[in-house]
Amino acid sequence: MEGIRMRAAWIEVDLEALRKNIRYLKSKIGPTTKFMAVVKANAYGHGMCPVAQILREEGCDQFAVALVQEGVLLRENGFQEPILVLGHVFPEEYQQILAHNLSVSIDTLEQAEELNDVALQFGSRISIHLKIDTGMGRLGFLPNQSSLEQICEILKLPGLMVDGIFTHFATAPQISDTSYCWHQFHLFEEFLKELEKKEVHIPLRHASNSGAAILFPQMQLDMIRPGTALYGLYPGEELEGQAGISLTPVLSVKAKLARVKPVPSGTRVSYSSTFTTKCPSTLGVVPMGYVDGIFRSLANKGEVLLHGQRCPMVGNICMDQFVIDITHIENPKVGDEVVIIGKQGTEEITAEEIGRKAGTISIEILCDLGERMPIHYLN
Ligand SMILES: *Cc1c(COP(=O)(O)O)cnc(C)c1O
Repeated sequence: MEGIRMRAAWIEVDLEALRKNIRYLKSKIGPTTKFMAVVKANAYGHGMCPVAQILREEGCDQFAVALVQEGVLLRENGFQEPILVLGHVFPEEYQQILAHNLSVSIDTLEQAEELNDVALQFGSRISIHLKIDTGMGRLGFLPNQSSLEQICEILKLPGLMVDGIFTHFATAPQISDTSYCWHQFHLFEEFLKELEKKEVHIPLRHASNSGAAILFPQMQLDMIRPGTALYGLYPGEELEGQAGISLTPVLSVKAKLARVKPVPSGTRVSYSSTFTTKCPSTLGVVPMGYVDGIFRSLANKGEVLLHGQRCPMVGNICMDQFVIDITHIENPKVGDEVVIIGKQGTEEITAEEIGRKAGTISIEILCDLGERMPIHYLN
């Protein structure tokens, strides 16, 4: 893997920035509220194990992942904290869940019974968190009478430990409209009250994603469950630049300039010739492409930084390269640092900006950074 580390396009992850964001989120919650850090999708592209190590050092209590395989990877790297698998798990994964002591999200009695059978067969118990769908319309028990009854049945299963109950918000939530988030939270609270009437007390009740963790400390319950904000990404456009909300971007993307090329006016650039120079120009070639996470939708829209100045991406993005217009840059040289996401001098390009220009969100941009991109950890 030495070759990959030497590559002239790379990701930098600032672990000190990560620490700052964890401390910021912790400042929002009470001293006894637990912190479940969401590290799915390779910690939103930041590298799961190095990130989990910092999260542990900063006192995060639990991890959440999307897939069983992600939980197994954490266990294989020595993480012994509770790990909740958020996504649906399939029967062929039950033994792995048991072997690695993963907690699973459960939203049907049938699946609880299946898991219970597996646990009993191995003389063990499986930890579960009940998932309640208060308005996401995805996985989860609907908050109704039939679900209450099913949950009471689940609580009787000797092979399961019901360690938690949670819901997930469909909104970031935005400052201008917090009503749906509150609606969901109230439904969840009411459902919890109904359970308590039945003498059911589940130890860990949790709901808050990043947005709620930042905006609504009232929703912290027993545990918060943030992902996005850990990585310094804003959960929704309205929180960006909002006074008092201080998140520090953790990840930068950089490359070395691979070519400096003076061309005449009328030069067509890249596949399908979607760009033609309008004057004698200097083009620069950056050695990364859509395989590395430079979205094709950035063609003729995105910008990068070179010598602290913005340079437009011109022509279509190729698999392994893209072209920038560096006509206005003084004395550019092969090997000069190009910043795709991050700071250079006084300029900055955020993942949020790239997301908007690519027609998506910052998270998708970071999660799609390719496997070929080496990650360098700073601080
Ligand atoms: C991804 C995810 C989170 C984290 O949400 P952010 O908005 O990234 O903070 C929390 N809970 C569930 C169920 C998730 O799928």
